[in-house]
Amino acid sequence: MGCALNCTYCYIHGSVYGGEETSVLQVKTNAPEVLYKQLKNRARKGEYGFIGLGSSTDPYPPMEKELEITRELLKIIYRFKFPVNVNTKSTLILRDMELLKKIDEKAVLPKRFQGKLDHGMIVSFSFSTVDPVLVDIFEPGASTVEERFGAMKKFSDEGFLVGANLMPVLPFLSDSEEHLDEAIGKIKEYGANFVLVAGLTLFGDKPKDCKVRYYKILEEYFPEVLEKTKRMFKDSFAPSRDYQAVLHKRSERICRKYDIKSKII
Ligand code: SF4
Repeated sequence: MGCALNCTYCYIHGSVYGGEETSVLQVKTNAPEVLYKQLKNRARKGEYGFIGLGSSTDPYPPMEKELEITRELLKIIYRFKFPVNVNTKSTLILRDMELLKKIDEKAVLPKRFQGKLDHGMIVSFSFSTVDPVLVDIFEPGASTVEERFGAMKKFSDEGFLVGANLMPVLPFLSDSEEHLDEAIGKIKEYGANFVLVAGLTLFGDKPKDCKVRYYKILEEYFPEVLEKTKRMFKDSFAPSRDYQAVLHKRSERICRKYDIKSKII
């Protein structure tokens, strides 16, 4: 529980999604056992659905190299032929390429995806920015942007359905026309089929909560944007609808420019 990549903006710190969070990292060693039971049961009933790996903890933290828990989970997913979307900021995913290929070949697609999607394996890489300076500051445990793009290209060259989650883009730091143009252009260049873009959310008022941590980092490295960021999140955990509409229009326009999809299907 918790995520070793420790991104400053991570929404599990201070939101309901971090409800089980502990002060030290804990490993769910029984995850394979639990997953085995659940998938066996669902497969027997024919209840196939996409499994999302990596929504609130990266599935490839450094300790995965030795523990191989994610790898065990993927073997179970393969055994019961479930489709899966793996989302990561780590190039350790390259280790499992052959296994992921087998999942892609064997997975049973849920009815609503049949005829619309021809892959049972989606490999997604996550970015909040493509600026290496910002990555060092806000994503200290993640692979570098160049490494992530390198891995993305390898998966794309091997015929995987590859995408990018460009989220959260950071207000006043990585949400400009220029920054998004560079990010989406590179995402396309390195072989992604789609890019999903979304804004920042900030939660909590305790020292470890993401809102407090994020403001602290702004104060230290980008004091010029601190007050306007605080105004943006004064009344809500998310920016205004107007901001989100502008971000949406901007990213859609750039996706059209680079001929890349802004959704998976
Ligand atoms: S990789 Fe994802 S889950 Fe892990 S700290 Fe970063 S944002 Fe949170």
